[in-house]
Amino acid sequence: MRADEMSSTEAIAKVETFIISIPRDVPYLGALRAGESINERGYFVRKGNRSVYPRTDMSVLVKVTSRSGAVGWGETYGIVAPGAVTEIIGDLLGPIMVGRDPRDPGVLHEDLYDLMRVRGFFGGYYVDALAGVDIAVWDLAAKLAGVPLARLLGGIRETKIPAYVSGLPKPTLPERVAMAQDWIARGFDAVKFASAVADDGDVAEIAALRASLGPKPKIMCDMHWKWTALQAIKLIDAMDRHDLYFAEAPCQPEDIDGQAQVAASVRTSVALGEEWRTAYEYRPRFIRRCMDIVQPEMGHTGVTEFMKIARMAEAFHCKVIPHASIGIGIFQAASLHAAAALPNVPYHEYQHSIFDKNLRYVSGDMRCQAGFFHLPTGIGHGVEPTADVWQHVVKR
Ligand code: MG
Repeated sequence: MRADEMSSTEAIAKVETFIISIPRDVPYLGALRAGESINERGYFVRKGNRSVYPRTDMSVLVKVTSRSGAVGWGETYGIVAPGAVTEIIGDLLGPIMVGRDPRDPGVLHEDLYDLMRVRGFFGGYYVDALAGVDIAVWDLAAKLAGVPLARLLGGIRETKIPAYVSGLPKPTLPERVAMAQDWIARGFDAVKFASAVADDGDVAEIAALRASLGPKPKIMCDMHWKWTALQAIKLIDAMDRHDLYFAEAPCQPEDIDGQAQVAASVRTSVALGEEWRTAYEYRPRFIRRCMDIVQPEMGHTGVTEFMKIARMAEAFHCKVIPHASIGIGIFQAASLHAAAALPNVPYHEYQHSIFDKNLRYVSGDMRCQAGFFHLPTGIGHGVEPTADVWQHVVKR
């Protein structure tokens, strides 16, 4: 560490975390199905994809403060067991960050990644923790430079980013179709349905959507990692008779051979990647041509890794359609800045049932209207928690 970093008034003085749990009327992906129930920790398992979800909107916020009092805000994926990331940040990463210069976010990220790599911590909760602090440090760096975050990532290519509507959280297919029609009427041109709650099957779902929406809107399916490669190939071919824009997550996340087989066998674009956190996890999939579209999740990757993955995608002639998860909007803002700086982003995922409800918890002019996200203006990533957030802080 350089001596001038230690004496800088902008050196990092404090790193804090906050677990947030915001109630919601209807669970993420829609009402509970038969046999699904909420446990004493507020979690439930979706039978459709055997995955655990929180009943509330859970997230972890990260606040990095410099000696002069300048603040950067980050957020990481905290939907279950959020105490794992707050412990990693509180006990390990935060104390090591104190005294470092926040104007070197990429260098700091590499140094923090190196701390645990030889012990095998190069994914999972460790990288989620890194993502949260990385977003906060990039926000602080951009604020200290007096520029929007996208300017530090290569420049602002777009201030309006096309949004696709993700999920139709209604209990019956006719209601989901009506909801899709409503979004199209509001100026959106792409809708994704979720296999885990497509009770009549994925083919019936896309057939009904296509029949009602007509030929123009794009329709995507999140297949929720449910299928073997051969099952997925048949199912994607059947869905593509109704013109499927992309097939997301057809096979289990570890199945590189299956992913490659599916991508080579169908005429539909395959989209993968929301669960991977680093360029190292993407690399073998790029080499095997497992996908046409990558879906990095800013809450898992942080800014530094997101940009590495996206630039790698560019080199492999893949598109980037960033994932959007449960959060209050801070990693969403960072993701929009990254998207705004990139040449290969046809859409950004729009989790309308989370994004709109939680907009009151962040400041700034970030919004999604008539088919487009608007890049938040101002310096840094452009959003900060509002006073309303603090009533939803949990102690665990
Ligand atoms: Mg998905």
